[in-house]
Amino acid sequence: MEFRDLKRQYQKLKPQIDAAISKVLVDTNFISGSQVTELEKALAEYVGRKHCIACGNGTDALTLALMALDVGKGDVVFVPDFTFFASGETPAFAGAVPVFVDVYEDTFNMDPASLENAILAVINAGKLVPKVIIPVDLFGQPAEYDKILAIAQKYGIFVLEDAAQGFGGNIRGKMACSFGDISCTSFFPAKPLGCYGDGGAVFTDNDEWAALIRSYQVHGKGENKYDNVHIGINSRLDTIQAAILLEKFQAFCKYELEAVNHVAERYTELLKDIVSVPVVKEGYYSSWAQYSILLENEEQRDGLQAYLKEKGIPSMVYYQKPMHLQKAFDGMECTCAGLGVTEKICKRILALPMHPYMEENELEMVAEAVRQKVLDGK
Ligand SMILES: *Cc1c(COP(=O)(O)O)cnc(C)c1O
Repeated sequence: MEFRDLKRQYQKLKPQIDAAISKVLVDTNFISGSQVTELEKALAEYVGRKHCIACGNGTDALTLALMALDVGKGDVVFVPDFTFFASGETPAFAGAVPVFVDVYEDTFNMDPASLENAILAVINAGKLVPKVIIPVDLFGQPAEYDKILAIAQKYGIFVLEDAAQGFGGNIRGKMACSFGDISCTSFFPAKPLGCYGDGGAVFTDNDEWAALIRSYQVHGKGENKYDNVHIGINSRLDTIQAAILLEKFQAFCKYELEAVNHVAERYTELLKDIVSVPVVKEGYYSSWAQYSILLENEEQRDGLQAYLKEKGIPSMVYYQKPMHLQKAFDGMECTCAGLGVTEKICKRILALPMHPYMEENELEMVAEAVRQKVLDGK
């Protein structure tokens, strides 16, 4: 069994994807081919935004967004303590101080109460400027934007949505990648909409930021690539990746998103009486980048993971360590008090195999193994 079976997806889409790649090879328009523009239009329309700028990966997408928001030395960026490293790495790379905020135990997303405490602590300390909030749409579910956006407005702080795992999710029909002043996603192969290498995109409705990001991503270009008006980076989405994504995006919309939601529903039905299953809030829709359960403690979690491995069932721990304990942030004064929920979750969480091509008998086998082991221990 595969944790996320990309081979099955390729087998199903092989004729279209092979043709799409071949066309790029024949046309040899490897950089900035028309497929990139076509993809940007399709994705902007899907999430309901004016601009989509495709780029090299999700990490660059965050970096480009932070550059457009002019984030740097003296600024604070609020980041969930429980997320992939890049959410906190990119503000630190920009020269700002990431301040970590706790998350909810049931949805694993940013806790607005913890966010407001962190903002007040920074304001009271009076040394740094609260500049950006980066809510993460963790494991596919949008963060609690009604509350987070209200707090952002109250204190005059930008919101940068990290939807690297959230593409395809929505809140009452409003799509992920439409919640932030700027929103970012990733097309890393294992993400909800993945390509066959690295890829990412930035979304915004703001013309000025969009123009800045288009410049920053090509060496700070002005009139052209050899007229340079900013210090930028080099981060474009390859035409081959755009061509692959155009094909995969159709499958994603037509049936993958629905199929992965069905797998999640079945897991929840089969497991909810014996472990903590992930909660999707009323009115929220997840694109299920991960299906993560919570065990009672670290010992039970590690025991279950070893048992599943014996049975040939892969599982993963996302994430092993809270951001505030990552060595890379040592000495940055970036933690806030009260990050206990994240610390507990890291010890108890386990992600089960999940993808749109998972069969009923496979998910039943995984659920049965989890049940056996958990009930055995009682
Ligand atoms: C994957 C991920 C990123 C980075 O995306 P890459 O394409 O791997 O650079 C950023 N934030 C979160 C939450 C992610 O899961």
